[in-house]
Amino acid sequence: MSESETGLPGPTAWRDVPCGLVGEQHAGRRIRVAGWVHRRRDLGGVVFLHLRDRTGLLQLAFSPDWTPAPVMDALAGLNPEDVLAVEGSVELRPEQAVNPEMSTGGVELRVRGFERLSESAALPILVAVPPEEELPSEELRLRHRVLDLRRPEMQRNLRIRHLAANAARQALSDDGFLEIETPFLTRRTPEGARDYLVPSRIHAGEFYALPQSPQLYKQMLMVAGFDRYFQIARCLRDEDLRADRQPEFTQIDVEMAFVNEDDVFAAAERMLSRILREAAGIELELPLPRMTHREALDQYGTDKPDLRIPWVLEDFTEALSGLGFGIADGAREAGGRVRGFRVPGGSYVSRSRLDAANEAARAHGARGALWLKRSADGWAGPPARFLEGAAGDRIAGSHSIESGDLVLLVAGPDTETAPALDALRRQFGKEAGAVGEGFRWTWVTDFPLFERDVESGQPVASHHPFTMPDESDPEALVADPFSVGSRAYDLVLNGTELCSGSIRCHVPELQTAILRVLGMSETEIESRFGFLLESFRYGVPPHGGFAMGFDRLVAMLVGTNSIREVIAFPKTTAARGLLEGAPSPVAADELAELGLGLR
Ligand code: ASP
Repeated sequence: MSESETGLPGPTAWRDVPCGLVGEQHAGRRIRVAGWVHRRRDLGGVVFLHLRDRTGLLQLAFSPDWTPAPVMDALAGLNPEDVLAVEGSVELRPEQAVNPEMSTGGVELRVRGFERLSESAALPILVAVPPEEELPSEELRLRHRVLDLRRPEMQRNLRIRHLAANAARQALSDDGFLEIETPFLTRRTPEGARDYLVPSRIHAGEFYALPQSPQLYKQMLMVAGFDRYFQIARCLRDEDLRADRQPEFTQIDVEMAFVNEDDVFAAAERMLSRILREAAGIELELPLPRMTHREALDQYGTDKPDLRIPWVLEDFTEALSGLGFGIADGAREAGGRVRGFRVPGGSYVSRSRLDAANEAARAHGARGALWLKRSADGWAGPPARFLEGAAGDRIAGSHSIESGDLVLLVAGPDTETAPALDALRRQFGKEAGAVGEGFRWTWVTDFPLFERDVESGQPVASHHPFTMPDESDPEALVADPFSVGSRAYDLVLNGTELCSGSIRCHVPELQTAILRVLGMSETEIESRFGFLLESFRYGVPPHGGFAMGFDRLVAMLVGTNSIREVIAFPKTTAARGLLEGAPSPVAADELAELGLGLR
């Protein structure tokens, strides 16, 4: 199904045909259309005016030959973005006037009369932005979002968003999922961010939390026997500001009972393939590839590998140690490695660029980056003098380094080198034009259950605390938490985490052990999650699910980097709503009513 075959608006009290759907089939007919004044051209005598609605543009032609004189006079007073209802006859354009760029480019409406339904004041930002002109600043666009949304690009983005949501609903419904809503006013949920709190007026001093996700509810829906749940769910997280984060965002939230990873992936893939087909005309090749968390870190230095870049990390420790090259020997002795990647034909890269790479590696927590170039004259770079003769031939052979290649290397423990190697691989991939086209997906599986908090060193959940561990003994889990793996997974698209989920922990004793590792006392566990654990006491099916970042997915489908381009009324990067002016101060008496006062 292409975009044009899906639902479009039809005739209404004010119009016979939407503007963009007027065509040759209407030639000779008298019709009424309605829309906004887009652009106008005066050709001395004849005036052409584009009328716009959601479906597109229609050329209106005004001429003393067919338009009554009072109507010609009224035309002079029109402003851009006035709303008109227009009556006229559809005529085929003469051949030289046909505009193949416009869906209605074969016809025009010869105007007999119009009514101005509403007048537009002078515009703070243009709607009909000429193609050669830049858009206004994002701040202005968001402040005047209603006008900004009228632009065809924004209309298209939100239409694709709708098609994607619709496809997801259809696919999941066909697979037996039920759409069930869960509360907005709830108790704190555990996705690791700060909650937005809502003071309760009736219970002064108590607060609801807005959901960071429907995680606990969807699990309880499984315990409640619904078997398959989904929701296109709004999630709210009071996180620190970052370029492409929104305090509220949308996830396609899914949960299934009696499943393992294969079942969950298959359902997610069926849904995705329908979304891609119906919203973007893309055929997805299934099943999507998989790799384990360990493989991802080993081959790409990250759990979000951008597979559009074909380069894979290699271990150069063997080839570079024992030659007197202190950095390699030192790394090896300390239990680390020298890892790196080959930039084929990259020997043109300048010294200053390589110095910058060294700095970038340090900024990502490594001790620096090394480089190695091979040319017809031999080797260049810090390890070069150790590679004369057989050692050079060995490394060239074992790592397929050709004349003209560059190799970037980082030495140290894997945990230190991985972020630097990931960053360098992405940077050089981009600069060398090695980022392939299209969509490259992979599931990443088998995450560790816990990670170390960067500041405190304490265990934090890698995914969230409701993930099934691969350790079935609660005491062993508490004793050595960092050695425990989990059944969490992510779906990564072009280096971005698009979806994550897990098979859940449905064993109450294990669940309690996980929460204990996270530093919660028995009382805290009982007060925060007692309701979930209690539900598990009455027969809980094994279950699992995922949540897919819907804003990000749609952004990728329409080809934009910013999720604000696919959200009708987003917040700024500083979490403000510029259109409505949110957040806003609240008067002291209103706060008092909530049992609150400002410090
Ligand atoms: N609730 C999780 C999240 O929002 C997704 C899941 O585990 O299903 O990331």
